[in-house]
Amino acid sequence: MYINGKWVDGAEGKSFKVLNPATEQVIAEVPEGSAEDAKSAIDAARDAFDKGRWPRLTPSERSLIIFRIADIMERNLKQLARLESINQGKPIKLSRDSDFPLGVDNIRFFAGASRALEGISSNEFLSTGTSIIRREPVGVVSCIIPWNYPWMISVWKIIPAIAMGNTVVAKPASFTPLTLLEFVKVMEKAGIPKGVINIVTGPGSTVGEEIVRNAKVDMVSMTGSTDTGKEVMKIASSNLKKVSLELGGKAPFIVFHDADLDAASQGAVVGGFVNTGQDCTAATRFYVHERVYDKFVNAVVAKTKKMRVGDPLKESTDMGPLISAGHRSKVEKYVEIGKKEGAKLLLGGERPKGNAFSKGFYFEPTIFSNAEQDMAIVQEEIFGPVLAMLPFKNTDDVIERANDIAYGLAASVWTKDINKAMNVTNQLRCGEVWINDHLPLASELPHGGFKQSGFGKDLSVYALHEYTEIRHIYIDTTGQVKKPWHYTVYGKK
Ligand code: NDP
Repeated sequence: MYINGKWVDGAEGKSFKVLNPATEQVIAEVPEGSAEDAKSAIDAARDAFDKGRWPRLTPSERSLIIFRIADIMERNLKQLARLESINQGKPIKLSRDSDFPLGVDNIRFFAGASRALEGISSNEFLSTGTSIIRREPVGVVSCIIPWNYPWMISVWKIIPAIAMGNTVVAKPASFTPLTLLEFVKVMEKAGIPKGVINIVTGPGSTVGEEIVRNAKVDMVSMTGSTDTGKEVMKIASSNLKKVSLELGGKAPFIVFHDADLDAASQGAVVGGFVNTGQDCTAATRFYVHERVYDKFVNAVVAKTKKMRVGDPLKESTDMGPLISAGHRSKVEKYVEIGKKEGAKLLLGGERPKGNAFSKGFYFEPTIFSNAEQDMAIVQEEIFGPVLAMLPFKNTDDVIERANDIAYGLAASVWTKDINKAMNVTNQLRCGEVWINDHLPLASELPHGGFKQSGFGKDLSVYALHEYTEIRHIYIDTTGQVKKPWHYTVYGKK
């Protein structure tokens, strides 16, 4: 673990094993931190915030160091992307060609944009003085990172937090701590002062809860499940910490009869199976107009059959394993429920067979048709490679069904009619809508949900705003003893 600029073991001397989900082999042993370790990390971050130089540097000075982080990351990109694939199971072409280059661009964006935040900076709103309105760092920020994009989501939380002058205690998911630990070495090399970034590895129930509960922490930023998000919010309320939560999703993918079905079916495969479906914005509920339902479903099935499941390090692999045995069991349970509830299994639904799959938490890309709105496979987040197809008749009906869910993270609408696309988009209750595409991200564009998908944004200038407090400072410019508003005590004479 990395606490106050030092690499340390846990105070209790315990450790836990980290697996490669493609081989089930142990690839590392990592200190199992305790609440005591979390407290040390929080103390270091508190001290670095209250007395250290980082929050007192100018934005330009901080941004220079953050740009250096991006440069060093870029030089080590291939090696770190490989480590991510080994630890997380994602295909090398996803980590090396997407997550890591995008993450480096995210770092550069935050480094630059943190120097150029706009807002009302000062003005005369009262006749007797002038006001300054400032965005200031929140203080100590706890960042809780999930296992689906371990490095990229670390960037989304840690970099905007430090770019705005905060100090950080971060906890990686227990399945995937390795790239964040390597990232700290990069930050160290780039010149981040000690105490500004601290990493505590260990369970959510001890380390996680301490960094959420501790009164010296000012803000919690978390990505993960809705249930854990609710727990985090409850615990963080003990001292009314600021909270930013990016939680579960169950994105609808709405295909009208006039859509380009070739583009939509390809978008379905990529949007549904990327990262083995372990993506909170993944396309999961496919509402397809009844006139093109069979054609679309057949096209998605045909394209899915061509997907190559296998070793994440092979260039040809399109889909790797799931993250863990437990998570695969969860996905399998949903497939069984789907069958029992009467959805028709068109493809997959099992572990792939053959020697290449004797180890590893692999699961076949799976497609159900004839799903219905109230089925668990339509309502609940499976977070695996399982798509559910549902026909629809008219626009009002599809909007109602797309919104009829606890989540509200992302959606896509497929049609050549821009008026229809915008009419539907305007009525969808979710934080992101793509028209004729599903999933694209950019550093400048906000990512985050409505409803039980959480609140607060990752990426974009809005993410920088998350990690600030707005402070108003008023300066009297009259020098008078009796100010015009003192009549409230002294009367009008
Ligand atoms: P969690 O939400 O439990 O884990 C996310 C992060 O929160 C991990 O770092 C975890 O630590 C930490 N955590 C867990 N419990 C607490 C706690 N009480 N206080 C503070 N931090 C805590 O997700 P799971 O790993 O259990 O996955 C379950 C489901 O969550 C998935 O099947 C999927 O549906 C959803 N999920 C959604 C993600 C998204 O991108 N929105 C990402 C990951 C999961 P630790 O790893 O040590 O438990």
